[in-house]
Amino acid sequence: ATPMSITVGTGKGAEHGILIRSAEALETAHKLDAIILDKTGTITKGVPTLTDVATVAAFDENQLLGWVAAIENSSEHPLAAAIVTGATDRGLTLGEVTDFDSVTGQGVRGHVDGHDVLIGNRRLLDENGISTDTLRPLHDALAAGGKTPMLVAVDGLPAGIVAVADTIKDGSPAAVAALQARGIEVIMMTGDNRATAAAIASQVGIRRVVAEVMPAHKAAEVRRLQDEGKIVGMVGDGINDAPALAQADVGSAIGTGTDVAIESSDITLISGALSGVVTAVDLSRATMRNIK
Ligand code: ADP
Ligand code: MG
Repeated sequence: ATPMSITVGTGKGAEHGILIRSAEALETAHKLDAIILDKTGTITKGVPTLTDVATVAAFDENQLLGWVAAIENSSEHPLAAAIVTGATDRGLTLGEVTDFDSVTGQGVRGHVDGHDVLIGNRRLLDENGISTDTLRPLHDALAAGGKTPMLVAVDGLPAGIVAVADTIKDGSPAAVAALQARGIEVIMMTGDNRATAAAIASQVGIRRVVAEVMPAHKAAEVRRLQDEGKIVGMVGDGINDAPALAQADVGSAIGTGTDVAIESSDITLISGALSGVVTAVDLSRATMRNIK
């Protein structure tokens, strides 16, 4: 495209709250075969709230939640914030934690009230040799409802489940439909578990889901699609998403997301609405038409 048409396209983007950082992104967006959307904070609002606390064995729900929240207090994950807020809202006081440890993409652990408490996904419990059989039915039921269940083990034994739920952004289903109508395949990618991801995907009309992706593997998933000969877009908000955003042919960051995600992207969607991606594709198409 000519410098003039690029300037016009970039200016129109800015009017719509879309900051386009490179001419190349504007030239490529109309050619995208697939767009990968991160789930949490991109399709959803990214502000989960505590919805369920359930225990097996002889634990009191508030006791278990108090321990878990005390440990999550040292974590910076949005899931942790939801649990801490939920516990404080219930008037629980959080005890002192020692030996805090965090396993990226899996969960956290710590020592509180004389107990060793572990909270996270199935992989975390599996890798610690703790059976998840008794927690499985409830885990699956919560996940089928689109909630994110986190399993809790106390002193090496399954103890309960804490679940949080996030809300889909109002414009997400319409944006997904608009991209699909333009012949672009829309794919969801998340570190969350398969069943939760599938439930959210079906609510927004996404048919292809890549779930339980470790943070370090998100960029490789983008590359895998590119290796199939596809031109791939990626939309994300988190630190975890940054390498995938950089790898994509067109990376778009949610404006309310982390600085690292924004710096790794070609486009910033200032308001965070997914409709911005549709606008970017249309602007690209118009820009390239103008120069032919
Ligand atoms: P996302 O792609 O949604 O940001 P992550 O890769 O950060 O997900 O985490 C994947 C999964 O690991 C979460 O869905 C959760 O089950 C578990 N997990 C991560 N951090 C924590 C935490 N602080 N407490 C409990 N579970 C966690
Ligand atoms: Mg996210």
